[in-house]
Amino acid sequence: MSHSHPDDPAVVWHPVSVTRHMREQLGGHRGIVIWLTGLSGSGKSTIAHALEKRLYEEGCRSFVLDGDNVRHGLCSDLTFSGEDRHENLRRIGEVIKLFLEAGIVIITAFISPYRSDRERARSMVPHDDFLEVYCNSPLEVCERRDVKGFYARARAGEIKNYTGISAPYEEPEYPELDLELDTADSTIEDCVESVVSLLKNRNVMEA
Ligand code: ADP
Repeated sequence: MSHSHPDDPAVVWHPVSVTRHMREQLGGHRGIVIWLTGLSGSGKSTIAHALEKRLYEEGCRSFVLDGDNVRHGLCSDLTFSGEDRHENLRRIGEVIKLFLEAGIVIITAFISPYRSDRERARSMVPHDDFLEVYCNSPLEVCERRDVKGFYARARAGEIKNYTGISAPYEEPEYPELDLELDTADSTIEDCVESVVSLLKNRNVMEA
């Protein structure tokens, strides 16, 4: 059976012949969202890419979605206004749904400072398909790293609404949190290992 779009009967959703389950069997592992959250400079991109490499080596198909490939492409028409941030997240939610259907481990690296936004992203996919991973590094450490030089500019007042300086970061709290990484004192390898262990515990990949 095919379904018509509510506003346009000519837009038809084709019946699925290859299911998510079939794709996951072909790939040899489950699809899941690993949602990294944390301050700028807390290590989200570093861990996302190191994890992607590690998963690749284990034969597990993964993909990193971060500010660069989203803000420069899919969402290049959006600003940082409240309304556009909301739309940005809605589109990201739709993209992660597609990756899940494809049976891929999708690793996202967005600051995502608001608990309500992270909950909204989680609510867009089946509950067991979303892991929230907090990259926890104190603001002083992130600021000292100042990977992109943005903290200095935010302190100088050149950048407004900068998370940690002039805009809030809402730390994840139990029960939404799946894993907390100490990205100030642990090594990158140890952090990646912790995520891999979590994936094995949740039966995403074989132990
Ligand atoms: P974000 O994506 O959160 O803005 P980045 O990954 O761009 O952060 O920057 C984090 C910086 O911290 C990098 O220079 C990285 O090498 C360093 N770093 C040191 N220890 C860790 C760790 N355990 N995990 C992640 N990054 C770390």
